[in-house]
Amino acid sequence: MEIKLPDKPLQIDSSLLTKFNLPRVQRAMTQCLQCGYCIDVCEAHRQTPWESVTPRGKIYYIRNIDTNGIGAVDKMLGRKIELAPDFVDAMYKCTGCGNCEVVCHAQIKLVDLWEDMRAWLVRNGVAPLSAHKGIAEKIAKYHNSFGESPAKRDAWWPAEVPRSNPPDVIFFAGCTGSYRMQGVPQAGVIILNRAGVKMNCLGEKEYCCTSPLLRTGNDTLSLEASETVVEKADGMGAKDMVMTCSGCYKTVSSNFGSYYSKVGQNVYHFSQYVEKLINERKLPLNNEFNHKVTYHDPCHLGRHSGVYDAPRNVIKKIKGIEFVEMERSRENSRCCGAGGGYKSQFNDFAVNIAADRIRDAEATGADVLITCCPFCVLNLTQGAKKIGSSIKVMDLAQVLLEVTAPKE
Ligand code: SF4
Ligand code: SF4
Repeated sequence: MEIKLPDKPLQIDSSLLTKFNLPRVQRAMTQCLQCGYCIDVCEAHRQTPWESVTPRGKIYYIRNIDTNGIGAVDKMLGRKIELAPDFVDAMYKCTGCGNCEVVCHAQIKLVDLWEDMRAWLVRNGVAPLSAHKGIAEKIAKYHNSFGESPAKRDAWWPAEVPRSNPPDVIFFAGCTGSYRMQGVPQAGVIILNRAGVKMNCLGEKEYCCTSPLLRTGNDTLSLEASETVVEKADGMGAKDMVMTCSGCYKTVSSNFGSYYSKVGQNVYHFSQYVEKLINERKLPLNNEFNHKVTYHDPCHLGRHSGVYDAPRNVIKKIKGIEFVEMERSRENSRCCGAGGGYKSQFNDFAVNIAADRIRDAEATGADVLITCCPFCVLNLTQGAKKIGSSIKVMDLAQVLLEVTAPKE
């Protein structure tokens, strides 16, 4: 997708940079040693091999903005620096995967830095990019990122699963699960129902968690979204909230508290909740899954939330599975390419990255690639199609739907 940016350099009041999240941005600028350890792991840079797209290059540019903007003479003269559209472009050529943060030996909080900088660009009126603007408009109007009818938000709920009042668990499907990848949350609630869990969902009150906006620098709808979800959920009397989407999991468990309040429930990713059910002997694994499988860590679940073991523990309990790790796994996992607003704005690049991840999986000899996020499944499936790979991409919930089916 082509980026629509003005031809002329953009005028920015750089003094805003020092007022905006000053401690975090300033710390990152002084910490960076310009060593370049972060470059090789950056998938966005692999797609656009310019220095300005590397984490190091981005920080170098931010430093220049800061130095030019806060010099005494500039201040006296009220001089404004010029911000090239290339910089805005580079700041959005990033999936927010956080692999740079893992390898940065200066321990810079790079994921926060990229989000701070994007928020700064939005406040200066030079962002968001066109696709992100469109998503924000849809969320504002329809409360989902696809512009679908809010009345159909819970149309995915399978008729065979009763809705309980009060429930034990609120199942949060997310926008992708509700409108594009319904098979994933459907599998999730069917499996939990087999374990005797009483569930319900938020219906029309399940607003977008606003992850697509927060990752692209726009927090204007996060208060309304978190307030709506928290108020509705807390009124339902459930103890736990479970979600199959890793992006929703990160946002609800980590970000909601900054905008309104945390939800009153214990928030679980589906993989964690299922592991608990299996350990409590409430969910029998009735059937074999006779495949060689490998596992892709979604960035929002793994690097961002530290959930690496629960999905692997569940996979390893399934009879018939031969499990193999990819060379890049856990905290060094290669991103699937979909996050941080990258897929919505730069879809071709995102699918190329997914294709590289599929090649990683193929190198293990696996015939099934399991992950734990419908958005990863979507992008990885497109990556596999692009290179004609026969590997099957499945969400853990889809695998467990087969494995936990009652024995005939
Ligand atoms: S690894 Fe860290 S310190 Fe080194 S260039 Fe990258 S961001 Fe800077
Ligand atoms: S978060 Fe990922 S895509 Fe963004 S700069 Fe770091 S390594 Fe590159």
